[in-house]
Amino acid sequence: MKVVDPSFEIQDELDRSSLAVRLEACGRICYKSEDKITEDSAVPFVRKVAGHGHNSVLEMAVATLEVTCSPAKLSELHECQPRYLVIDRTASGCLVTGSIRAFREIAVQHGGNQLVNDMLLVLFTRTPYLFEGAFDGARALPAAGDIKVRKVGLAEVEALPIDLLRRHRHVGVKFIVNRAVTHELVRHRPCSFLQESQRYCRYSQDKFGNQVTFIKPLFYEKGTAEYSLWQQAMEETERLYLRLLETSSPQAARTVLPNSCKTEIIMYCNLAEWKHIFALRTSQAAEPSMREIMIPLAGEMRRRYPLL
Ligand SMILES: Cc1cc2nc3c(=O)[nH]c(=O)nc-3n(C[C@H](O)[C@H](O)[C@H](O)COP(=O)(O)OP(=O)(O)OC[C@H]3O[C@@H](n4cnc5c(N)ncnc54)[C@H](O)[C@@H]3O)c2cc1C
Repeated sequence: MKVVDPSFEIQDELDRSSLAVRLEACGRICYKSEDKITEDSAVPFVRKVAGHGHNSVLEMAVATLEVTCSPAKLSELHECQPRYLVIDRTASGCLVTGSIRAFREIAVQHGGNQLVNDMLLVLFTRTPYLFEGAFDGARALPAAGDIKVRKVGLAEVEALPIDLLRRHRHVGVKFIVNRAVTHELVRHRPCSFLQESQRYCRYSQDKFGNQVTFIKPLFYEKGTAEYSLWQQAMEETERLYLRLLETSSPQAARTVLPNSCKTEIIMYCNLAEWKHIFALRTSQAAEPSMREIMIPLAGEMRRRYPLL
């Protein structure tokens, strides 16, 4: 068995990559198959997950659009009740941010809406493979003359005034923590998540070191009687898990794995939601293992976005 400290990584490097590269890098966390990433693997990977309905992968990248249109056209968009798009009025129309999944689904449900159609045309023209099965540019309505849609780049999003920045800038964080912590993290509903799957990962394989990895418990100091009891429990669990794997699948054997098991999770949301999460998860009332990781993360985010 292996014992590691919890850690986090803000994924800003990935924000500078293409949407497909970002989606693949995040999506492969489920299978821990990052070693399969090559220069050409992103588009086939994204096509495959979209085809299989592994939809949360498509939530791991957002696009921001500047829409110039009349207030009447904007009300037509609101009639679609776009729950998963962030929409803010601007002097000339609105700013819209949504994940690839959100844009795909609004295309399927409201493709006949001219404003939805025109937003999708802009996204489809840039990355048609992300919209396969949801929107077909060749069959779409022609773009309307009185609506203008423009893709807004990351640098422009970062330069938005604070009220817009907090709603439109989405930031991903990869955590390496125990399963008790991720069970609490996934309660934050506005976020998107992808997590290492104990159904697909077989920890007896070489790439996992043929062993189970656990997160060092915050509560017990190494060398104490309590730590020694915890260690015994983990060793026994690992022995039983590996024995079960000899005759059953990872999804069956995982039923003996405990909260201390190491897991990786990517959490992706806007800065407004991160602020809410930090308020709840760094307070004295929060669980200590959660505070152990959230307090340094909040400090790092504050350094990057001091105005927030
Ligand atoms: C100290 C502490 C102890 C806790 N103990 C328990 C416990 O014992 N048992 C337990 O089950 N949970 C517990 N929780 C989880 C807690 O109740 C929340 O589910 C979790 O913190 C997610 O936060 P949230 O609901 O504020 O907001 P998020 O899910 O992060 O949502 C952000 C915002 O979106 C809005 N929102 C999202 N979904 C809805 C909705 N359906 N309706 C209305 N508004 C919505 C709200 O404005 C909300 O503020 C605990 C959390 C903390 C911090």
